[in-house]
Amino acid sequence: MVSRREICPACSGDGSEKGSNRKTCPSCNGKGETVQSAGFFSLRRSCSQCGGIGTIISNPCRSCRGSGAIEKKRQITVKIPAGIEDGMRIRMTGEGDGGERGGPPGDLYVVVPPTCLCEARRQVCL
Ligand SMILES: [Zn+2]
Ligand SMILES: [Zn+2]
Repeated sequence: MVSRREICPACSGDGSEKGSNRKTCPSCNGKGETVQSAGFFSLRRSCSQCGGIGTIISNPCRSCRGSGAIEKKRQITVKIPAGIEDGMRIRMTGEGDGGERGGPPGDLYVVVPPTCLCEARRQVCL
């Protein structure tokens, strides 16, 4: 079994509960950065509460708790191409973790365990 992060179907990766809007970040007043005064200097830094976006989720999605992604376990079977040996990695395009904020999924790398390389079963069972 492998687990990967997939885009939350309930909020489509947005992180907000359906029908709720994001609200202005109270920490930076929507500016996305906070200014810290230290003597003669003022230090600008990107707001840690909203991550520099300026808005925060007012009502987090219940399925993913506001992260926009959920962990999913599933069974996959990997066919081992000819010429692959023990310990080599097979790249499975699009089977990896979902991208940040609704981006496309990345690639999953499967390391071939020696036990799966018998002639009869040329596949990795996860
Ligand atoms: Zn969600
Ligand atoms: Zn903020």
